[in-house]
Amino acid sequence: MTSLESKIKKSRLNNDGNIIITDSFECRVSPRPIVADEFIVDVPLRDAYIGILRNKKDTATVIKSLTAILPGFCHLKRCTNSQLLLAFVGNSIEKSNDNINLAFSSESELKDFLNDKKFNLQLLKDDFLIVSVPEIPPRTKSQAKRASDIWPVNFHPDISIELILSGNYFNSVQLNIIDACMKVCIEASRLEAFTNNHCNGSAVILNPNDNGISRIISIASCRINEHPMWHAAMLAVDLVAKSRGGGAWKFEFPFQTASHDTNECHKRKFHSIPPLCYPSSLNNMCIPEFSTNAIGNSKSKHDNDNDNENNCPYLCTNYWVFLMEEPCPMCAMALLHSRVAMIFYGIPNKSRGILGSKALLHTMPGLNHRYKVWTNVLAYNSQRTEMKIDQRGQ
Ligand SMILES: [Zn+2]
Repeated sequence: MTSLESKIKKSRLNNDGNIIITDSFECRVSPRPIVADEFIVDVPLRDAYIGILRNKKDTATVIKSLTAILPGFCHLKRCTNSQLLLAFVGNSIEKSNDNINLAFSSESELKDFLNDKKFNLQLLKDDFLIVSVPEIPPRTKSQAKRASDIWPVNFHPDISIELILSGNYFNSVQLNIIDACMKVCIEASRLEAFTNNHCNGSAVILNPNDNGISRIISIASCRINEHPMWHAAMLAVDLVAKSRGGGAWKFEFPFQTASHDTNECHKRKFHSIPPLCYPSSLNNMCIPEFSTNAIGNSKSKHDNDNDNENNCPYLCTNYWVFLMEEPCPMCAMALLHSRVAMIFYGIPNKSRGILGSKALLHTMPGLNHRYKVWTNVLAYNSQRTEMKIDQRGQ
């Protein structure tokens, strides 16, 4: 028996024959974060006037004087190797009342301004240089390193962003749970997804911390053959609403709705509440159950806002959603409105996806909620399943 087989054997079955994922279950899932370009691309450069100090001993005096006259450039060192950052090159129309990051259209205009402000130009050599410098602050260590090769920057890393970009955001327990949930999602797609090119596959919603354990609470496959709005994510969210006594749609079979009485929640065994599924045949799948919560070390301040679903004002606060394919705008917005914390998907939806393909909804300004998005989760399996669904001719 190989070491991998040995580790998989350590996962166990409960009384219903469902797989219980334990810490020792090994998987190879590697989610890739979908983040805004501002965290990935190099910071833009902009030409700036640079004065050369005649005498290095004047550095402190000149910086003090200059920052009073021309404040700004907080993300850049003001002086390096006797080169003094003065102002951006640009249209003087950009001048602002507070004089921060002023731009000047010519060297003579800048010198006139400095003379007017009683700056001693004799401290600098006669001719200024024009050098490209980072225009805005870098957002990541990687950007800061590249920017510093051009001009020294002031930078304080955002630990949360660095962790996301590092590829180590999730620990092994979390990766096992992600792997298991996505496998359920792909299998549900294979079995029951009726779809079109707009939105494809299935959706699995996980409560990552239901009284200390993770629990899949709804599973749905796309069923546009029954209703034009029955995309997988829309159905999965509606099933969560149904579990709370609500829901927008009436389904043709009775659900085994779970009690959400607080006392009963605390008393119940962790495997006692099955997820709501649509179509109901998905109930026959082997549903993994988890012996741990999925919050782990990645718990951020944001994730920590609402731990207990009974205190959550929105339907899916803190929940994780697994999709075989990147969601369409309708599904992505529904998940945003229901306040899910994370979305994992297998493959891009090149024609309609707005969490990576056509847009980055979750990075747009003005939103009152942001979820984290991860892709490349069992992408090969998702791709193969998508091909099978397409072959149905639906
Ligand atoms: Zn959709």
